[in-house]
Amino acid sequence: MPEIAVRFRRFTSLNTTIRLREGKISASLSDLLEGAPEPVLRAIAHILLAKLYKKPIDPTQNMRYKRFSSSAAVVHQTELIRHARGSKRFFGPEGHYYHLDEVFDSLNVRFFGGMLGRPELTWSEHMAKRSLGHYDAAHNTIVVSRVFDRPSSPRYAIEYLLYHEMLHLKHPVRMKGLRRCVHPREFKADEALFPQLAEALAFIKRL
Ligand SMILES: [Zn+2]
Repeated sequence: MPEIAVRFRRFTSLNTTIRLREGKISASLSDLLEGAPEPVLRAIAHILLAKLYKKPIDPTQNMRYKRFSSSAAVVHQTELIRHARGSKRFFGPEGHYYHLDEVFDSLNVRFFGGMLGRPELTWSEHMAKRSLGHYDAAHNTIVVSRVFDRPSSPRYAIEYLLYHEMLHLKHPVRMKGLRRCVHPREFKADEALFPQLAEALAFIKRL
């Protein structure tokens, strides 16, 4: 029997691959299958080996896998993962000059008593000047423009921007009749507490 290596990988679908090379079998399964029940994993192993050796697939095993992969819970989970990994590009919180996680944590302690749960934080892909930052509730992600990750950008500027987005976590969008109220009065009152508000706004205006 050849040596077999199996690993789970971050796929965006239920992809599985198998190949035989230099006497070794290597199989890759989506990490979506990592928590699958053992009979399902056995069925997958059977199907992959049957495919590799061009043998007929046992219909019972095939059925077991199909039933699992088309179940509502798995389909839903696959959708979520595809949404999070596929459609959204994630550049991470580590910049050249500022680490967003570090800035977030320090603001959290200073202004929120450390009580705000940290969402995903990421720098934007480009030096966007029109969209300096936004909170994406669907992905629970704060995106910050890379224009703030430069030596010419003072710390209070990135702090102000992140503080503003953090206030969106604290004050979710409210409906005023049919109107969405994004920055209600309490939001603005909290924003005014930022010590270098005037300097930060002036810096942003010059961008
Ligand atoms: Zn806002």
